[in-house]
Amino acid sequence: MTNVLIIGAGCSGFTTAKRLKEEGIAFDWFEMSDRIGGNWAYGNPNGRSAAYASLHIDTSKFRLQFEDFPCPTDWPDFPHHSLIDGYFNAYVDHFGLRPLIRFHSEVKRVWQEGTDWFAEVEAAGTTQRHGPYSHVVIANGHHWSPNVPEIPGSFSGVEMHARDYRTPFDPVDLRGKTVVVVGLGNTAVDIASELGQRSLGTRLIVSARRGVWVLPKYFNGKPSDKTPLPAWMPGWLKRRLAQGAVRRAVGNMEDYGLPRPDHKPLEAHPTVSSEFLLRCGNGDIEVKPNVTGKEGDQLLFADGSREKVDALIYATGYRLSFPFLSPEDAPVTANHLPLFKRMVQPDPRLQGLWFMGLAQPLPTLVNFAEQQSKLFAALLTGRYALPEPAEMQRILEADEATHKGHYYASQRHTIQVDFDLYCHDLKAEIAAGARRVPAQRAA
Ligand SMILES: Cc1cc2nc3c(=O)[nH]c(=O)nc-3n(C[C@H](O)[C@H](O)[C@H](O)COP(=O)(O)OP(=O)(O)OC[C@H]3O[C@@H](n4cnc5c(N)ncnc54)[C@H](O)[C@@H]3O)c2cc1C
Repeated sequence: MTNVLIIGAGCSGFTTAKRLKEEGIAFDWFEMSDRIGGNWAYGNPNGRSAAYASLHIDTSKFRLQFEDFPCPTDWPDFPHHSLIDGYFNAYVDHFGLRPLIRFHSEVKRVWQEGTDWFAEVEAAGTTQRHGPYSHVVIANGHHWSPNVPEIPGSFSGVEMHARDYRTPFDPVDLRGKTVVVVGLGNTAVDIASELGQRSLGTRLIVSARRGVWVLPKYFNGKPSDKTPLPAWMPGWLKRRLAQGAVRRAVGNMEDYGLPRPDHKPLEAHPTVSSEFLLRCGNGDIEVKPNVTGKEGDQLLFADGSREKVDALIYATGYRLSFPFLSPEDAPVTANHLPLFKRMVQPDPRLQGLWFMGLAQPLPTLVNFAEQQSKLFAALLTGRYALPEPAEMQRILEADEATHKGHYYASQRHTIQVDFDLYCHDLKAEIAAGARRVPAQRAA
């Protein structure tokens, strides 16, 4: 029996659904919101979109487009979130997916009885049991559950996570205020660059625990991700070439008043901004070390300084979260869930659970599940067989060493993937799995 449940209608969910539909595979598909698009649906009533009004995607249009639905040729290189949302909606309609989605339907619980999976879904005030399913596609996103550092003391000003930031006036009017943005990731540098605009009268401080390399969005006038180095090139060589290019383009971070990174370029998930370094160099943004304490309207910093502050914005990332799964079925440790080909656990009992888009691929996550779903669809249609569990575990560990071995150890880097290398390997794995089919059938 093949009957599939899909959770979520963001780009990971809808590209997987499209492939299953084309393969004639039956599925139930639940989406908690009233719309598709997940994170890219600005103001999504599910309360989980972290898109701010000024957000432009950091991935160029050349790399984010779906393989059989190119993005419009008249797009700018780094489209605004509203264009991405429009593109997603056009895709869903073009492939006739919208009628297949049950909106306003939140999957509350997924569990196993025997070898079958079941789900409890809350819709229109009632809870219903659905199933049995042979496979569950988990595409609930991993940029919605805020990671907030614990800082001793209490603060009388505004505290918020970047997920809830929309504009300098929404949800809180920050004009003329002293604001501390914690972090130096992509969202931190975007929000700091926006709030550091002199016209807002804001005093903007960025607090950073460690230095990062801030990469430009363009190299020599071209989007920096537009021309990837070939997948066959060894990772160390690619990195060495890219590191040289980064250093030539941006020089030393200390020259902009930023902390010196304790790692080389590309040994951390890249922070990309063509604006932030200029704002630091202009003196529009001040930089301070870690916030170590809160005392009424003041924040204490690791260098012993203190500042009277009106608002504290945590741009400190997200945690993996699967509220509908038991910890036994999704054993996340230190923000890490090890998965074979970043999709499925080697434990045979759990091989019905498929995690789509649960990766931090460079340069993009937008069309990543579109690629992953090729292997999943091949499995469902009998054209692919998984390796034995011990072999899955061995490949998983080797893949993790390849994809993230060069990143510094951090809960930020548990699911890093090199997109091009991943696709290259995925093709080989699908071919290897096809060769396993006759043996597994015979067994
Ligand atoms: C500020 C920001 C900037 C980003 N910039 C980039 C970028 O430049 N490039 C890039 O590639 N990626 C970027 N990302 C990553 C982004 O997460 C992905 O691009 C993309 O949104 C992932 O799609 P998804 O379908 O996996 O998850 P989501 O977009 O989060 O969609 C998940 C869907 O599942 C639904 N859902 C969740 N739980 C349930 C449930 N229990 N029941 C039913 N439905 C459920 C949600 O309502 C949602 O519709 C960025 C993320 C953030 C936060």
